[in-house]
Amino acid sequence: MKVIISEIPEEGLELELTEKISSDESITIVSPVKASLRIDKKGSEVIITGAAKGTVELQCSRCLKLFEMDIDSKIDVVYHPASEINKEEHYELKGDELDTGFYRNDTFDTDDLLREQLVLNIPMKPLCSEGCKGLCPKCGVDLNITQCNCAISEIDSRLAVLKQLLGKKK
Ligand SMILES: [Zn+2]
Ligand SMILES: [Zn+2]
Repeated sequence: MKVIISEIPEEGLELELTEKISSDESITIVSPVKASLRIDKKGSEVIITGAAKGTVELQCSRCLKLFEMDIDSKIDVVYHPASEINKEEHYELKGDELDTGFYRNDTFDTDDLLREQLVLNIPMKPLCSEGCKGLCPKCGVDLNITQCNCAISEIDSRLAVLKQLLGKKK
């Protein structure tokens, strides 16, 4: 939803949202995102804190299967007016505990904010399950579903080399 910044009251704004958020190339969101947000104004800055939860579709980094995962996100963001975008170095000095964004035309969209926050909380190497066996590096079968003989024949060939070595010693 769009928030009009000049309409945020002095005492701040509390929002409870359940929003269907469109996906983009960086994320596939499969359920409405639930969020509780607190929005405060400090001069021209808008400070947004709270939490969000949504379900996203990810690709397992081991077996490449698509699976769904719940993402919890803590939100701690400061939005500056886009007219200050050139003074960005100035904000880096303020510490890095807060994410920084920019708003234009007196509005910002909570959909964009929530999407960004979910993207930030996607694990670097998503796994469909802790014990995912992944794909065989040799023949590419999904070792969660079926077994192949690659590992076994590798051991066999090592044994064969060993037998040869032992044979030579005799
Ligand atoms: Zn997997
Ligand atoms: Zn294999």
